[in-house]
Amino acid sequence: MIHPDEALKIVLSCRQRPQVETVPLDQALGRVLAAPVASSMDQPPFSKAAVDGWAWNSEASGLAPESLAVRNVIAAGESDQRPLGAGETVKVMTGAPLPPGADRIQKVECAQESDGAVRFTKPERIDNVIQRGENARTGDTIVSPRQLDAQDLAILAADGRNRVDVAVRPVVGVLSTGAELAQPGENLKPGWIYDSNRTQLAAHLSGIAVIRDFGTLPDDYDATLAAVGSALSQCDVLVLSGGVSMGDYDYVPKALVAAGVRTLFHGVAVKPGKPTFFGTSAKSYVFGLPGNPVSVFVNTEFLVKPLLYGLQGVEYRGLSAPVTLSEGIRRGSTERVEFLPVSIDADGAKPVPYGGSSALQALAHACGFVRLEQGQKEISAGSVVHVRLVR
Ligand code: AMP
Ligand code: MG
Repeated sequence: MIHPDEALKIVLSCRQRPQVETVPLDQALGRVLAAPVASSMDQPPFSKAAVDGWAWNSEASGLAPESLAVRNVIAAGESDQRPLGAGETVKVMTGAPLPPGADRIQKVECAQESDGAVRFTKPERIDNVIQRGENARTGDTIVSPRQLDAQDLAILAADGRNRVDVAVRPVVGVLSTGAELAQPGENLKPGWIYDSNRTQLAAHLSGIAVIRDFGTLPDDYDATLAAVGSALSQCDVLVLSGGVSMGDYDYVPKALVAAGVRTLFHGVAVKPGKPTFFGTSAKSYVFGLPGNPVSVFVNTEFLVKPLLYGLQGVEYRGLSAPVTLSEGIRRGSTERVEFLPVSIDADGAKPVPYGGSSALQALAHACGFVRLEQGQKEISAGSVVHVRLVR
């Protein structure tokens, strides 16, 4: 059994230079940017009005002129390159480029216009100008390799790009094992439960991978061997659930090894998820996760996702926030690192009612996990903990 940090290190060592493809910007949401993008222009590309108002030349007319003669109006999208001299003003709309010489703008709310002249009724403390290049300079890195979100796509669009180079997504196969598994929508036989892990895995990973569904297998060695052999040849990463533990019918590790998989680890000192298996074959990686659904969730978050991001050239850390514990945490056995589900409200973080790795329903109330180290029995109320956020 290895420490979960060691397990993560092994997973991260599988990081590789991804293959790159170019996709239209409107299909790039959630894709991993392949290389840093440098700004092709100054942002904004010209000095422009931050407000609707009256622009003037403060060097020629002073900082607080009494009255200025109206020259003309400049709307957003227009350009007027005639220099603005002493005693004159142009009306500018938000986003309009400033004519040469104009360096300050009086908001329309603080000015009065009559008979072709404008009087300022209240001094402005700021210039109300967005300077050319104030947000980014040509050549500045504007987006670094990461999973692209709405903000990143907006930045790329603002730079005029309609295509973007992204990592090719790995194909991830999901496969459940368990003789007791029925499909949602079917009738349950006595002793059966619904297969929720395949739904969970596909949903959890669909934002970062192309999912291929290999269905549900009974606990049968030959069937497992045939299925994993075929699945491994069709995907970059195969994620199985169930059948990796010590039970009489837990055939998955044996079948994987027989199918040519080299074991990288089998057994992690983590709760939930102790029997987790990770291995590699000729062209793919494979996780065997214990079947309990919270084990699947935790190990997908802390091991599978880091691999999938790593295969696309970036590190996955997830979001973590320091939060005060409003209720203490205590546990019995301290042999393993444990991830405990917590909720967060205005008072801080507190453990959700949680009966262990089969308590899938507890995850409805959890927005993150607190990590307890080996040997750590409790964390008292009032302590600040790092909550690894999952929603
Ligand atoms: P196993 O890892 O196969 O020993 O399974 C551990 C527990 O997880 C058992 O109670 C299984 O019934 C349950 N389980 C296994 N696979 C699934 C699945 N796909 N969906 C929901 N529960 C499962
Ligand atoms: Mg099983």
